[in-house]
Amino acid sequence: MAKAFKNFIGGKERDAESGKTFENRNPADWSEVVGIFPKSDKRDVDAAVDAARQAYREWSLYPAPKRGDIVKKAGDIMVARKEDLAREMTREMGKVVLETRGDVQEGIDTAYYSASEGRRMFGVTAPSELQNKFTMSVRVPVGVAGVISPWNFPMAIPTWKIFPALVSGDTIVFKPASDTPKTAATLVEILVEAGVPDGVLNIVHGGGNEVGMAIVEHPDVELISFTGSTAVGKKISEISSRSLKRVSLELGGKNAEIVMDDANLELALDGILWGAFGTTGQRCTATSRLILHEKIYDKFLDMLAERASRLKLGNGLDESVEVGPCVNEAQREKVHSYTEIGKKEGARLVIGGEFAKGGDLDKGWFYKPTIFADVTPDMTIAREEIFGPVLSVLKARSMDNAIEILNGTIYGLSSAVYTRNINDAFKAIRDIKAGITYINAPTIGAETHMPFGGVKQTGNGHREGGAGAFDFFTEIKTVYVDYSDKLQRAQIDTYRESKGNTN
Ligand code: NAD
Repeated sequence: MAKAFKNFIGGKERDAESGKTFENRNPADWSEVVGIFPKSDKRDVDAAVDAARQAYREWSLYPAPKRGDIVKKAGDIMVARKEDLAREMTREMGKVVLETRGDVQEGIDTAYYSASEGRRMFGVTAPSELQNKFTMSVRVPVGVAGVISPWNFPMAIPTWKIFPALVSGDTIVFKPASDTPKTAATLVEILVEAGVPDGVLNIVHGGGNEVGMAIVEHPDVELISFTGSTAVGKKISEISSRSLKRVSLELGGKNAEIVMDDANLELALDGILWGAFGTTGQRCTATSRLILHEKIYDKFLDMLAERASRLKLGNGLDESVEVGPCVNEAQREKVHSYTEIGKKEGARLVIGGEFAKGGDLDKGWFYKPTIFADVTPDMTIAREEIFGPVLSVLKARSMDNAIEILNGTIYGLSSAVYTRNINDAFKAIRDIKAGITYINAPTIGAETHMPFGGVKQTGNGHREGGAGAFDFFTEIKTVYVDYSDKLQRAQIDTYRESKGNTN
């Protein structure tokens, strides 16, 4: 019998007010129920926001290094439990255990980075233009933060948001994706064990329209940190703009890898296999388009088709498996609908294009790694995010032409270029419109202490990762201390009293 989980509000476990629940199942074996979770609504969100508001003052007065110590302890607990966390995550959302270990490690790295930032969180001091006056800026917490996360990085993405928010002194209402509530519940459990006080971190499980929207609309939630689809991000942005709520949006992508004729083709091949089919293509940074120089187009396509058709699919707990299932049935249907569209629009199906079946594969939502060749930039499969193991291959005449094709989408998250020509590499770094550009490495592989985010419709200008995350979770307060014992007027007395006045 699967364990029944609860919401965690004000330091107490609570059922949903509705009394309803939903099941969380293993996408590699749909008969296996991973857990049962409360199906919450606005009433549960109201209670969680209330608890977060009440806990805010005391938490905001904890020194930031002490808040950092709690987050560091959470990192230590994650180190001790890394293997169990990874295996549970694979059961919950399907990606192979090699990758879920990486997902946990990203959380650990974020814990240690965020904890250390508690001893920096630098402001600015600068000389005043007036005598006997001191100027500085300091960071202060904002208030209650709403954290809404997707299912593809069930540990890493919540930690990117929750750890800096906690160190900043904000309190939190957290709504994880309903495909991955268990990893989220475990993360909360770890933070409580590490010493996060009651009410500072609250989790409310349930659907996006019921729980997510109620968090976004709540007047006492001062900021929203959201990662998910561009469609939902736009909705959140519209609603939040009515109250000028601060919102960070990390959204969809249509990432491309360029391979030039002078590239190390074996290296580029390893990169594309990892970028396109790792996490079953379900990464915001997954390589969805491959842009090949015309001189190596046929040769590289053959090499790629041969390797990709040998990728081993299956339950990600088996260490020899390379590609897990799609996260749920609807996602697999969506992926397949793009295969149909690709065929209809005239792209050439090279491999895959169908459900993967036979033996244990029949138990889950497996889809064969799929490659379309002769894709042109106007085709739907070259423009829309698919979020599955489908790669569209396009042809380019030159680096300029390849960059033009790469830039031809509404998204701008990650990008990769394989070339040995340093001039071309730097041209690409300058001209590619994306938040991240890799040279001779795949589109996936972000490190937690570096800024992460995208341009165009991939986001709204904020960055996660590194010190930049603290810009979002804190306010800047500028402070002037005048110890002259007289009224000093900036800009006016500054120049009136000084020698050599030119005003
Ligand atoms: P999604 O937008 O469907 O859901 C994301 C979260 O928002 C979930 O918790 C969901 O329940 C919630 N939600 C749904 N509707 C909502 C609403 N109306 N109001 C408030 N919350 C709502 O996305 P998903 O399917 O979980 O994740 C896949 C998407 O996330 C892809 O587009 C992918 O590119 C994107 N993503 C982006 C990044 C990034 O950093 N840029 C990282 C990972 C995933």
